Amino acid sequence: MKVHNFNAGPSILPNEVLYKASKALIDFEGSGMSILEIGHRTAPFMAVMEEARSLVKELMQLEDDFEVLFLQGGATMQFMQIPMNLLENGETAAYIDTGVWSSKAIKEAKLFGYTDVIASSKESNYNHIPKQFTIPQQASYLHITTNNTIYGTQWQSTPESSIPLVADMSSDILSRSMDFNKYSLIYAGVQKNMGAAGATMVAVRKSMLGKVTRKIPSILDYRNHIENGSMLNTPPVFAVYITMLTLRWLKEQGGIPAIEKINDKKAALLYDEIDHNPLFRGTVVKEDRSKMNACFIMDKPEMEEEFIKFCKKEDIVGIKGHRLSGGFRVSMYNALPYESVEVMVEAMKYFSLKKA
Ligand code: PMP
Repeated sequence: MKVHNFNAGPSILPNEVLYKASKALIDFEGSGMSILEIGHRTAPFMAVMEEARSLVKELMQLEDDFEVLFLQGGATMQFMQIPMNLLENGETAAYIDTGVWSSKAIKEAKLFGYTDVIASSKESNYNHIPKQFTIPQQASYLHITTNNTIYGTQWQSTPESSIPLVADMSSDILSRSMDFNKYSLIYAGVQKNMGAAGATMVAVRKSMLGKVTRKIPSILDYRNHIENGSMLNTPPVFAVYITMLTLRWLKEQGGIPAIEKINDKKAALLYDEIDHNPLFRGTVVKEDRSKMNACFIMDKPEMEEEFIKFCKKEDIVGIKGHRLSGGFRVSMYNALPYESVEVMVEAMKYFSLKKA
């Protein structure tokens, strides 16, 4: 292991994925060419794309109505592409505002129809997931952000909804078991739990499409991407390749149930230290804590820089909090080994003893 990498995204990838990808950069499957040097419509690359798409369906156990796409433009592009494809002019989409990423999604949806923000935790600096809300039955869909990367909150269960559910799962995709079939559209930038920056995974129910009357530019119409097997134009080949390798790795680990057990253990270890170490304090309500991004502060903020420097000496990187929430953010995505969290906790204990 090089360092203990707690980056929030792009973030740590499994070593064996990096190793295989580095070989493919020089010679892809004995072709004498780099994966970056072959056409995307060649049989070997088409096989990569197909395997990546079908592994997502398999790992998430998605029903047949779902199609999996790898698109470009990041999760940020989905903020507009979703309402463009699903929200009819003059109709309303419901959103729950749990942080910066949800509010950006809301802003874009307003370009296409009405938005009804049925709950928000903004007033308390997004330190919890709202529990009280009524889902308007006439809304076209309800959008949630399952994990809030900046503030460190996470939906602990899927809200019961009789209208189609849409979710931004960028920072907790494939990290825990969920009934993904309760959703109508799931999207995620792949650069945290799934692969390398450059591709965005969209899993969409075909039955949701073709209902709006507006004209949709070809490249933004999900139906065109589906018809073309996620190869409407040149896809981000290397990002998709790394994603395919990461999905294979996840399957070898035992899939989502197996990785969830490890993720639970990692989060329990870290939060236990945050709760028992007098120097540190968690910033979000306990019941909504994220198992992917743990956010915490020190009661003496002047010590924070010193702690970050101390950690750096211990080869711990990426723990500085987002500029909007301050303090620390320790991201524990799928590829982060349990041992890295042990090292982090040891550093917290040692630093605290030194300061006592
Ligand atoms: N949604 C969430 C929950 C995120 O964490 C991020 C990125 N950190 C985004 C959306 C934006 O993703 P992208 O940079 O891929 O557009």
